[in-house]
Amino acid sequence: MSATIIDGKAFAARLRAQVADHVQRLKAEHGVTPGLAVVLVGEDPASEVYVSHKHKATVEVGMTSFEHKLPADTSEEDLFALIDKLNTDPNVHGILCQFPVPDHLDERRTVARIDPAKDVDGLSVTNAGLLSTGGEALVSCTPLGCLMLLRAQFESLSGKDAVVIGRSNLFGKPMAQLLLGDNCTVTIAHSRTKDLPEVCRRADILVAAVGRAEMVRGDWVKPGATVIDVGISRVPHPDKPGKTKLIGDVNFAEAVEVAGAITPVPGGVGPMTIACLLANTLTACCRANGLDAPQGLTA
Ligand code: NAP
Repeated sequence: MSATIIDGKAFAARLRAQVADHVQRLKAEHGVTPGLAVVLVGEDPASEVYVSHKHKATVEVGMTSFEHKLPADTSEEDLFALIDKLNTDPNVHGILCQFPVPDHLDERRTVARIDPAKDVDGLSVTNAGLLSTGGEALVSCTPLGCLMLLRAQFESLSGKDAVVIGRSNLFGKPMAQLLLGDNCTVTIAHSRTKDLPEVCRRADILVAAVGRAEMVRGDWVKPGATVIDVGISRVPHPDKPGKTKLIGDVNFAEAVEVAGAITPVPGGVGPMTIACLLANTLTACCRANGLDAPQGLTA
């Protein structure tokens, strides 16, 4: 059997088009333009690339993009002064501080400074708490994207056995909460889990978010299961000396022969992350204006 390949790129393009459509309607019917502010402290090259992708994607869906690039030696006081200004700016509906920040700044304190209603990365304690208690949270973008991909695979997720490998605040925990919210029976596995292959073999839905290249082998996958590969590792390219390539946590060549459906790396989960950031900004904008968030774009 060869699994269906879940085309995250195509799914993300459809999601962005849906967001763009809603943005047009918001402008026409309510005179409101969603705005996303991205704060970058320092000159980390990878972060600069992410921020420029986010800026481009934001503008493409018709939203306003506010970029704030601060020098690496920016004090916490100055960073917080900017966040406070963005918190009260009515044209800004989403705020994202690109991590990592330089060592003298604290990520937790930075996230805590952002108004939870504008925390479109879904990282704040308030949003994590709302998610785990069934409230109207802004949900961390990558798990939200995975949930959307999964919902598109199944008529219902109810009663499915789901295993999430990884328990980070950024991904594993919110992913597990989302699956629980859709009535899956959820197991969270991690580095201390005993007999991980056996635990994985129980899963109708297997989500791997570890960061260890090709750790999940084909014989860890239940025949017909849906496999979502979140992990990203950069390894030397086998055919191009001096170049690297991205691979996931799942041994794709083996798993594709056993699974019912599987996301590739790259081109699976990755493209959903920015699309969900835009969806979250739209959701935050609707809520700020007393409007319902568009169906299907939130958890
Ligand atoms: P993280 O904070 O490093 O968490 C990794 C998790 O994997 C931890 O819970 C850890 O368990 C667990 N783990 C480590 N070794 C293990 C092992 N041998 N067996 C089972 N579990 C093990 O990473 P993260 O931020 O969640 O990200 C995970 C991966 O997803 C990374 O590769 C990251 O680049 C990728 N990612 C991709 C996207 C995207 O847009 N595609 C977004 C976010 C993350 P302990 O808690 O016990 O240490």
